[in-house]
Amino acid sequence: MTALGAEIAALVAAEGPMPLDRYMALCLGHPRHGYYMTRDPLGAHGDFMTAPEISQVFGELIGAWAAATWQAMGRPPRLRLVECGPGRGTLMQDLIRASRVAPDFRATIDLHLVETSPVLIARQREAMAAAGIAATWQADLAAVPPGPALVIANEFLDALPIRQFVMTNRGWRERVVGLVEGGLAFGLAPDPIPPALIPADLRQASAGAIVEICPAFPALAATLGARKVAGPLAALFIDYGHARSAHGETLQAVKAHGFADPLAEPGEADLTAHVDFEMLGRHAADHGLMAGPPLSQRDLLFRLGLQQRAETLAKANPGGFADLKAAVERLVDPAPTGMGSLFKALVIHSADVIVPAFDS
Ligand code: SAH
Repeated sequence: MTALGAEIAALVAAEGPMPLDRYMALCLGHPRHGYYMTRDPLGAHGDFMTAPEISQVFGELIGAWAAATWQAMGRPPRLRLVECGPGRGTLMQDLIRASRVAPDFRATIDLHLVETSPVLIARQREAMAAAGIAATWQADLAAVPPGPALVIANEFLDALPIRQFVMTNRGWRERVVGLVEGGLAFGLAPDPIPPALIPADLRQASAGAIVEICPAFPALAATLGARKVAGPLAALFIDYGHARSAHGETLQAVKAHGFADPLAEPGEADLTAHVDFEMLGRHAADHGLMAGPPLSQRDLLFRLGLQQRAETLAKANPGGFADLKAAVERLVDPAPTGMGSLFKALVIHSADVIVPAFDS
């Protein structure tokens, strides 16, 4: 068992089984042993690959979107550009480079990076130095000062801990991590939870049905909602997930580019869940914000000019054509589990902004 596994087993022995969100939070964020606290997990030699690590086109197109959205906001003279969970800082580095063609936009940027991992903050510092832009690091989105804001987050929401509830013949019960013969094991809490915890349209279900909720969503929506008082807001969330809330379980552990057992090596594998975009959109609406249906990553990238951007890059570097083509095809792969379709983009915005690419 890992050091963190032993610590979690001791906690369970002392306090009883723990809900999944607590287990996930410890696995990902434990100050000494948490997955993100101790490593840079990205890239071919790490555990998983993300869109900005696949091709510079991704961050460049998000940069074009950011500049166009700033225009749509009425060109505020100072813009909080915020990225949540920037990883290696690659997306932001590509975005800043692309914004050289829009110097008016570039000059308004006050950059804030929301990150909890000391290892990744160090990587991001290097990337921002290479991009030639000053940044402020924040542990929490709520700490970003007020004012017009553009928030970007790629593969950030999937790392937010979830709770799972299972329908039984005695009602909805919470899935917990407990101990069986000294090892971590999933179980169900003995007492049913109040049904109000389950979203209303998922509450009626037959035995065995599973519902996931992300307890961080209401606070995230409240933080975004509070911002709109002090200026326009647009927040772009790209992640794997579903456009509509539904029954089913999506917790997954990933290690070395393959699926792993979520309980086998706490702190040594990435733990994520698919994002329920409808749910996040509903919470945003509760705080006076707008959120339409998400776009597929494929549609978003094509609407932002993927075709033209790829052609320009191919002309500039004919020798890299095969690699570029493969990378672009991976980003927009329309197969059900391909990035172009499994990954979706949700924009949450204040009513005063008509957000480019999402307005039709
Ligand atoms: N956006 C990057 C990295 C995705 S990995 C990319 O696309 O390549 C998830 C990122 O979110 C990491 O930077 C991780 O350290 C960060 N993260 C995870 N949980 C977080 C939290 N609660 N607060 C802030 N950052 C978090």
